[in-house]
Amino acid sequence: MRLLQRHLCMIAMSLLAVSSAHAATLVEPTLHIEPAASGAGRVALTLDACDGQTDTRILSALVENKIPATIFVTGIWLKRNAAAVEIMQAHPDLFELENHGGRHIPAVDTPQKIYGIKSAGSPEAVLAEVESGAAALARTGEPAPKWFRGATAEYSPSAIAMIRKLGFKIAGFSINGDGGSLLGAKETAKRIAAAKDGDVIISHINQPTHAAGEGVVQGLLALKAKGMTFVRLDDADGTGNHGTTD
Ligand SMILES: [Zn+2]
Repeated sequence: MRLLQRHLCMIAMSLLAVSSAHAATLVEPTLHIEPAASGAGRVALTLDACDGQTDTRILSALVENKIPATIFVTGIWLKRNAAAVEIMQAHPDLFELENHGGRHIPAVDTPQKIYGIKSAGSPEAVLAEVESGAAALARTGEPAPKWFRGATAEYSPSAIAMIRKLGFKIAGFSINGDGGSLLGAKETAKRIAAAKDGDVIISHINQPTHAAGEGVVQGLLALKAKGMTFVRLDDADGTGNHGTTD
């Protein structure tokens, strides 16, 4: 009986393997920065600007409190948020703009859905997403981006290899600050305030109506009050897994 069960189970598993043969197993890479040599520690704040608008609560708090951040922008966001881009460019000491793709399409070279978003689906489409993101940044007068983060921050291993070949490092993270900007203010603040020396925080700066944005500000101010310093990815030695930085 037990043998039969096991046999049926194996048949089910092999059927599953056949039906998902074309969907790649995705990875969500991590990223850490070199810890501080002394003091209260340092973290890297990364904020995604996927599409939509600008959360001015966060942008103003960063400027007022002189908190540096790496902003991952897409081509679509850049087009619709000229005023925010102007503020970021007026503070080159605070803001580093990096590549979040041209159209916010997951960098996965097989056709599948990630969190309900359709993947690029082919190597050519991954290439187009990465290169059009870099081109959009170039049009705003930004220096060439060195970091890429794909929509959903999930990748097929073959896409990672391709993006690395284009010369980009891939920006994972170690603290999911706002859960895709869907968390409440309290939980977001708690997650960010818990960041430790060497952590890379991810949150969003494109959802001005979400409660999470308020929590991002609270969490950052709590870290600052503890004496934590903030660095941008270009100013830190970032190490990621899954071949994203080496
Ligand atoms: Zn995004």
